[in-house]
Amino acid sequence: MSAAHLSLRKIIAQLAAHYGKPQPSITTDPFELILLENIAYLVNDERREAAFKMLRKHAGTKPHQILAASPDDILRATKLGGMHPEQRVSRLKEIALIAMNEFGGELKPALKLPLAKAKQALRKFPGIGEPSAEKILLFTRSYPVLGLDSNGLRVLLRLGFGEEKKNYTATYRAVQEAIRDDLNEDYDWLIGAHILLRRHGKELCKTNRPLCEQCPVRKSCAYFQKQKA
Ligand code: SF4
Repeated sequence: MSAAHLSLRKIIAQLAAHYGKPQPSITTDPFELILLENIAYLVNDERREAAFKMLRKHAGTKPHQILAASPDDILRATKLGGMHPEQRVSRLKEIALIAMNEFGGELKPALKLPLAKAKQALRKFPGIGEPSAEKILLFTRSYPVLGLDSNGLRVLLRLGFGEEKKNYTATYRAVQEAIRDDLNEDYDWLIGAHILLRRHGKELCKTNRPLCEQCPVRKSCAYFQKQKA
């Protein structure tokens, strides 16, 4: 099955019917989204959010608050976020320093730059590549782009949107190109699509041994058809 026969809208509707209404993100503030991305490593979303809430409570989540906080207060939060918590204390301090030095402590004006420059600005922060920059632009409702995490990317590839290329960036762009005509400027739909594709990749369309027999979109899936054949 080629991507030309696939309807992303239909697939997202089927995923929404299966998983229910997507839960909104814990924050839509750009600086907090960068902190959220960096506060944890290889833990589930619940642990990541718990670490983030702990940071909010004991250190604060504004650049000047992170800079003023004691390393121990930040460590209380990063310890909830998995291995190497001390490294993430330094990283959060570095993030706050970049925000102060390069953006005067306020990121929102940078998100109003033309798209390529807004992405470039966000990519100055550690842990923020093109996919995360697009996610931040989407979640802050700055640009209607469907940023995809690795789960969402895997799901779309298996379904038949785009194809694997020689590296992650090239694959990401191939998938983005394949879904381009199916996108619109509806932020609610785009944010929902991001969340549902990610959830599907984590719960059923796992990296190893996807649970295709339980999958609500298997009839449209190139990977599933190939396995059956
Ligand atoms: S059928 Fe299998 S491979 Fe295809 S989207 Fe569903 S879980 Fe993923």
